[in-house]
Amino acid sequence: MNNKKENNTCSLKLYSTLTRRKEYFKPINKNIVKFFVCGPTVYNDAHIGHGRTYISFDMIKRYLEYKGYSVIYMQNVTDIDDKIINRGKEIGKVNDDLSSVCFDLARKYERRYNEDMESLNVKGLNLQMRATDHMDKIINQIERLIEKGYAYETDTGVYFQVNKFKDFAKLSNRKIDELEGHRLQEDKTKKDPRDFALWKKRDSIEYYGEPVWSSPWGKGRPGWHIEDTAITEEYFGEQYDIHGGGLDLIFPHHDAEIAQMEAVSGKKPMVNYWLHTGFLNVDGEKMSKSLGNFITIRDLLKEVSPETFRFFVLSTHYRSPIDFSKDSLHQAGKSLDKIKSYVDDVDEILNSEFEDEDVIEDKIDSLESTSYDVLKSTIVSFFNAMDDDFNTPKAIASLFELISESKSQLKDLDINDILAIKGFLVTVNDILGIIFLDDNGNNGDNEEALLDLIADTRKKLRANKQYDLSDDIRAKLTDLGYEISD
Ligand SMILES: [Zn+2]
Repeated sequence: MNNKKENNTCSLKLYSTLTRRKEYFKPINKNIVKFFVCGPTVYNDAHIGHGRTYISFDMIKRYLEYKGYSVIYMQNVTDIDDKIINRGKEIGKVNDDLSSVCFDLARKYERRYNEDMESLNVKGLNLQMRATDHMDKIINQIERLIEKGYAYETDTGVYFQVNKFKDFAKLSNRKIDELEGHRLQEDKTKKDPRDFALWKKRDSIEYYGEPVWSSPWGKGRPGWHIEDTAITEEYFGEQYDIHGGGLDLIFPHHDAEIAQMEAVSGKKPMVNYWLHTGFLNVDGEKMSKSLGNFITIRDLLKEVSPETFRFFVLSTHYRSPIDFSKDSLHQAGKSLDKIKSYVDDVDEILNSEFEDEDVIEDKIDSLESTSYDVLKSTIVSFFNAMDDDFNTPKAIASLFELISESKSQLKDLDINDILAIKGFLVTVNDILGIIFLDDNGNNGDNEEALLDLIADTRKKLRANKQYDLSDDIRAKLTDLGYEISD
């Protein structure tokens, strides 16, 4: 009964920022969903706003998989950026090589980001691609933009010429004239202040020591927006299904991505569904270092369990703003305890009836349907809510209806109904990930799960005719001592 849905594709609606309405979801390639989310800029520990964003997209990936799709979920890692260089200058000693300070910094915070995500049960990422590993793709895309007349070189860099791209800022819906006043770095060599950097030249003495790469335009480094489209073009092609990120990335970042990719490919739209997560405020105010209300995921998890934070996040719709406070977090913890206590009651009945977990799982799998009306209506309302643009607060509310209506009468229910309830709870947890089942820290299991994940990812890549990448992964695994055959 907890089996994944097969091809139940037409019932899911999601809200796309581009069309500003909810639309039925339909992937480009039948059952495969190419899903890209802007990853972290790795110069500092991730904060709870990042936690909110990536928990939300993790839930979305899980739900798409529940719906029967093969999801390839990719993020980039911005491992070269002004922020990284500035931080490198702050922490580096006089005689240090700035370039290697920046490199070490980026690797350190990439590792810490992945650890933070792991602790929040955000585990669904299939591909994580660093900007600096794709310098040739980035340069190649810029060359094509210049050839097609969308970009030009000056003394300071290469810039995208905004007025050449008719639809510029269609995602944020800003009129091109409004953009005049937008905070843009003034550079006298640009044709228009709105033009944005694709490549930043860094060969003069004032940039001495900064990390640089060779290019047809001399030594330098890429602008921020170009890394995403170079990476997505490489692995997903010119057009793909879903692009996600925080609300603050719509302009200029995502508008710039659209301009770059659609200009270079001549195909529209680059992405069919644009998903954006709402802001996270702390006690009603925007989180910022200067206000002293800046909370890293690591600091938070010293005080509350990761399950509680995850449940807190999913108790609000992913597009709505969340107000973070000790009080609301405490409330979330109490609600989650109610769910856990209900799960315990169900488990207790099943464990006294059947010898072990395997038997229970088999029994659940062989259940046809349930005759228990309370559960039936809960299932309908839970999945209706999830199908309606991933409305987790409504879905969670329907779970609480089941709990309040059935908790006191669990002992009187038929054992098949208890099995059906358990099957539903397992599915709920597969989608929301709010009760961590594998927190024993068993490394052997983790390694096996990781290898399964890699094998699964390769299968998806091959199904998608991306043999080069799939072979590359196999070669690297062989280097590490793992043999994989196709
Ligand atoms: Zn991005």
